[in-house]
Amino acid sequence: MEYYEWSEVADAEVEPTPLASRRPRRDAIEAAVRTLIAAAGDDPDREGLADTPARVARAYGEWFAGYAADPAALLQRQFTETEGYDDTILLRNIPVVSTCEHHLAPITGHAHVAYRPAGKVVGISKLSRLVDAYARRLQLQERLTTQIASTLDAALNPSGVAVIVEASHGCMSTRGVNQHGVSMVTKCWLGDFKRDPELRRELMDSIGRCAG
Ligand SMILES: [Zn+2]
Repeated sequence: MEYYEWSEVADAEVEPTPLASRRPRRDAIEAAVRTLIAAAGDDPDREGLADTPARVARAYGEWFAGYAADPAALLQRQFTETEGYDDTILLRNIPVVSTCEHHLAPITGHAHVAYRPAGKVVGISKLSRLVDAYARRLQLQERLTTQIASTLDAALNPSGVAVIVEASHGCMSTRGVNQHGVSMVTKCWLGDFKRDPELRRELMDSIGRCAG
């Protein structure tokens, strides 16, 4: 049986998850897109739409590339020569591109990821890839926030982890209540950040200074 090849967008360093290997064949995906075009009220055979099913199938490869990633594996390479650095490390304004699992509508925004190392750190680009690995799936913003935090916590066993996600939801801005400019903020505090309100204030201040 021929399967749609997503490897061009998948992370070459990691093995795809079992879910990722259950994808339908490309022709089945394209047939589904043709059905959606007809559901919209248009003609899937119209010239301008002829290549749309193939384009959407490729776009799905990017939007849902997270299923082919193993988020924990991204954090396996760790560094210890930090001269005992134990203050907050914060990566601000990481772009979030996700998809709402209730409406298949886009979720776009930013994540701020912080931790207080206890001997081990990871390369900063890995924090950004961690966000992407969980975001590029069918998601709830609440779950995305806690998944990023708990994976970082399990990998590094740091003194504290904080993840803040601020995002707009297409399902709210383009349908239903049709509210533009509304964003949702979710936070996950672990360890030091959960215990110490002063640390949380300091962190929110650092994030605010950057965003402004
Ligand atoms: Zn939704």
